[in-house]
Order: sequence, then structure tokens, then C-alpha cells
Amino acid sequence: MRFDLVVRGGRVVSPGTARVTDIGVRDGQISVLGDLSGVDSARTIDAAGLTVFSGGVDPHTHIRWPFLDATSHDDFRTASIAAFHGGTTSVVDWALPADRSALAGVRRRQNEATGDGVLVDFALHCVLGPDLARGYDEVPDVVEQGCPTFKCYLTYRRRGLLTDDAKLVRALRAVAAAGGIVGVHAENPALHETTEAELRAAGKQDAMHFRAAKDNLVEAEAIHRAIFLAEQAGAPLMIQHVSTREGVELVRTARRRGLPVFAETCPHYLVLTDEVYEGPLGRRYLCSPPIKSTEDQEALWAGLADGTISIVGADHCAFTVAQKEAPASAFDAPNGLPGVETRLPLLYSHGVAAGRLSEARFSEVIAENPARVAGIHSRKGILAVGADADLVIIDPAARRTITATRLHQDTDWTPYEGVEVRGWPKYTIRRGEVVIDDGRYVEPADTGQFLAGMPHGFDTVR
Ligand SMILES: [Zn+2]
Repeated sequence: MRFDLVVRGGRVVSPGTARVTDIGVRDGQISVLGDLSGVDSARTIDAAGLTVFSGGVDPHTHIRWPFLDATSHDDFRTASIAAFHGGTTSVVDWALPADRSALAGVRRRQNEATGDGVLVDFALHCVLGPDLARGYDEVPDVVEQGCPTFKCYLTYRRRGLLTDDAKLVRALRAVAAAGGIVGVHAENPALHETTEAELRAAGKQDAMHFRAAKDNLVEAEAIHRAIFLAEQAGAPLMIQHVSTREGVELVRTARRRGLPVFAETCPHYLVLTDEVYEGPLGRRYLCSPPIKSTEDQEALWAGLADGTISIVGADHCAFTVAQKEAPASAFDAPNGLPGVETRLPLLYSHGVAAGRLSEARFSEVIAENPARVAGIHSRKGILAVGADADLVIIDPAARRTITATRLHQDTDWTPYEGVEVRGWPKYTIRRGEVVIDDGRYVEPADTGQFLAGMPHGFDTVR
């Protein structure tokens, strides 16, 4: 029996077990987990002393993404290469409606990814705008198209994305009936818009004022309301990018009551604090929700460890420094931080190496649960025989200081400049092709594939 690739002697983390063993890859899939000494293989990677996980599944990227007058700087090809360097082999990006159609939006986004030369495998979440020509009647067709995960923005009025409570209830019902799940961007627009107007009138328009307009209760109110509306609608709910301790507690309470409520957080909320808004570089760090305090950070780590928070998404959006700094007011600047490359290394370092997360939990929140929510878990996110041979091989002894010049995201800065991390991906393998080979990028022969998600994946989240 000849293999295309054998990964030999690594510490292999797969669901329920971590052990030193070999991995045999054939035809892009994991075909054997176990002793493969003496077998014939086209390529062998010596993984002694290294730790092997399923390749990262980033559930939240915004590649080449519009925000008011700006569009983020990267494309699906450059973002793919950055993702590979950071050990991520699949992403779930977002489709905005096209011509007031959610379904047309999904098709347009698939074409954009393919046209850009996407290299990671990708799935799509469908953004349900508030102004669809057929309302939410398209939802079953979108699920049929392979997109069972949806998003409603509870803010972003100026971007034309704000979904009010009545529409949210209708969206929750329609999506639940089709076996999908609605995710929400949870911020209360009445609260932050009122404060913003006051601050603008007083000439207070710096990054710290943007942060002040979106304090903890802005998020907590919207999470609280979304949970009640989802319960009333009999619908599952995902809270995207939770940033506050109040948000963690609301999700924990809902889950204890047995509600199908899930939560995501992001590396910037886990690693940074809102002190970033006070310095001269504050403008760069604008994102929504904004980064909060050390207390919030601790609550988020606890929520990840105890199962309250199921997934970690980059919320990657690669604006350049110039794009961030162009508007006169921080309230008009594009929101979003680059992070598809640093998500997995930061979670390994600040989670596993720092003793906050077990290797098993790290793998669940960074790959397995994101794949389950998107309904792509038959192929992705789980290191098991029969799954796609997507692997990240981490050198736990590696030490690195993150700096923008050593990253591959198509932008000129990183929020983690100077952050020291323990462990870094040494090899990344996508469907059996070694795309990061001892730290160097190697162009894969095959392009990235669209991953059609199955409904009800969220039922299987751990
Ligand atoms: Zn986002």
C-alpha cells in the first residue's frame, strides 16, 4: 500500500485522544491513523517533537470587503496564502445580498472567490439584509445551495444593514424552518448612535470616543434581546464576536436553560485590551464591537474553556493603515482588523501554551466546532480517517515575536505587533498538499473548493 504522504511520529490530537502516531494520506484524505513504519510513501514528514492538529477552520473572514467608502485590501488568493501560513486550511466568508437577493449574493461571492484564485477551501455565510425583494422566502434555496448559516446585523444603519426586531423574528423563523442558524452582530444602535451624536457634537471623534460610544451594555442589551426573540421563535442562535463579560454570562445562562444558543469570540478580544485606543495608533484598532477590558478578556477565556463559547473566528478584515486613517472622524473610519494568519497561533500560544485551554479544547474551538456550525464537519475540522487531509503541524518549542513584515496578510500592519507567541505552524497541509513546508509557502496544484454545508450542523457542536 503506497501513500502520497506520511506524517511520522507526531503527537496527534484527534477527537477524544492525543497520542504519538503516524498519519497516512492518500488521494487528499486521511486513510490511516496508526503505526506506518516501513510503508512506502511519496513524501514523509518527520513530525517527532511536533504536534499535529486538524487544519484550522476560520469561521469568520471578510476578504475584499466593503465598509462605507472603503474596501478591505486583500483578495481570496492573498488571504488564502496568509491563512496557510497561520495553519488555517478552510475559511467561512460572508455573502452580502446582490440586487436585493440573498441567493444571488451567494452566487456572486462564490464567483468572486473563484475569480480571485482562492486556495483555501471555503464555505459561505449568507447575510440577510433588511431589504430583500422576496423577504426571507429565499432562505430554503440558500440552504439548498449549501449555506445553512445566516447573519442579521442588529446595527450598521448607515451601511443599510440594520435588521429591526420584527424582521429578525421573521428571519429566525424562516431559517429555523430550513434547518439553518441565524448569527447576529449584537450591538444596540439606539444606545451607541445617541452617544455618538453627542460626542460628535462636542468634537470628540477619536478612537477612544468610538470605544466609549460602544460600552459593554450596548452589546449586552442586543444579546439579551436576540436570545429572547430566538427563544420565542423556537430558533437556534449564534452570537458573533462576543466581546463582554456580560455577553458571556447571558450566553451561559441561556445554554444552562437548554436553549440552542451559541457564541463566537475573536483573538483581539482575548489578547488585546481597550488601552489600544488611547495611543497614537488607536485609530487602527477600530472594530465593532470594540475591544474591551482585562476583566472582559478573562471572562471570555473562561467561557471558551467551560463550553459557553464554542468557536473562535478571526473576524478578519484587512484594511491598510491609510484606509483606517483617511476619514477625519473615527466614527467614519472602516471597522475591522486583519487576523486570518494570526488567529490559530495566538490561540495556541495564549490558550494551550499558557495553560488556559487543553489541546483538545483548542482544536474544538479553532477547527472542529467551526466546521460543525457550518455543516462541513464530514470533511473538515476533525483529524480522523476519511476526513480531508487538512493538517497543521505546530512546533511547540518555537518562539516568535509577531511583526507585520513577517506576515503575509495583504496589509501593512498587524494588531499584534510585538506580541510574543509560543508555538508556530511549521507545516500546513490542505487536502494532502503540503502548502507550508517548514515555514515556506508552496503553491498547491489544486485550487480551493467551495464547501457546501449541511443543515443542522450546530446540533453537533461540542
Ligand atoms: Zn465580521
